[in-house]
Amino acid sequence: MPSPSILSVAKLSPLFASQLDAAFSVHDRLHQTDPAAFAAAAPAIRAIAASGESKVDAELIAQLPKLEIISVMGVGYDGIDVAAAKARGAVVTHTPNVLNDDVADLAIGLMLSAARQLPAADRYVRAGSWSKGPMPLARKMSGARLGLVGMGRIGQAIAHRAAAFGMSIAYTSRSPKAGVAFKYFPSATALAAESDFLVLITPGGAGTRKLVNAEVLAALGSKGILVNVARGSVVDESALIDALERGVIGGAGLDVFESEPNVPERLRALPHVVLAPHIGSATSQTRQAMADLAFGNLQAHFAGKPLLSPVPECQ
Ligand code: NAP
Repeated sequence: MPSPSILSVAKLSPLFASQLDAAFSVHDRLHQTDPAAFAAAAPAIRAIAASGESKVDAELIAQLPKLEIISVMGVGYDGIDVAAAKARGAVVTHTPNVLNDDVADLAIGLMLSAARQLPAADRYVRAGSWSKGPMPLARKMSGARLGLVGMGRIGQAIAHRAAAFGMSIAYTSRSPKAGVAFKYFPSATALAAESDFLVLITPGGAGTRKLVNAEVLAALGSKGILVNVARGSVVDESALIDALERGVIGGAGLDVFESEPNVPERLRALPHVVLAPHIGSATSQTRQAMADLAFGNLQAHFAGKPLLSPVPECQ
């Protein structure tokens, strides 16, 4: 039997792509590179392989009459039109849990880097400035108040780590989480007003777009530090730049941006902001686990076995 045809919609991790190439007939970004060849191949395509940042819209889905499954290598799937996939009878899978440790580690790393100014300290030593005097004093993280916007799998992993720093922990989400003992706030503004560090770890998409706006940043205050490991869309980026430039908040650690990989020049010019190129899950170990799970979902589907990790809407 010929191997199933699948479309990869992004430049995928080699850890995922190599497994796909061995098992399937893969059309690598054909819809972008060769529309005529794509039109010829589309009627036979049964699966889409995507990354967490991929866009799979209703228009693309409409061109794939035999589509059965979209496998996302990532936990966030805000770029996938799940309703259109379901309407076509296709399921969507993602890779939750296997990346919790890495994203939580990075959140703590960005909190420490922004509070203790580690990139600036590194630049200070390299520039030979130490001999002229000490760096300005930084702010303490241990014992401070952490506000988590989102208290899901990764939010709870961040809270676990923050507890070891003696931080007091509170959170907001659309509803209080059963079995979570931390203090709940009904809005991001109310949480920010009681936080020294505000860490964002919600999904992206329409439900969280610009959830953190000028009002939330004003509530966080001039000593507050914002850390975003969620999605760039969760923050009003121009309001954030304005707040950082005017000292409305004290600093930020950012792994995600509104229009990746483009980071505004005004943001890059700010010395008290720590920037990372969306590396939340970017370790060899975790990317391998994500690739294995994303591939495992496709394998299970084509073997007629239960899916390993469908998105909640497809469970
Ligand atoms: P999860 O377990 O589904 O948790 C999501 C949390 O966000 C829940 O507590 C949810 O609570 C809350 N939430 C959802 N919509 C909200 C809203 N409108 N307002 C306030 N809170 C809201 O997801 P996860 O596995 O922890 O992953 C979270 C996100 O992290 C992913 O979707 C992805 O965007 C991001 N991420 C980033 C990286 C990176 O590389 N930086 C890596 C992995 C994941 P309610 O449903 O009660 O609101």
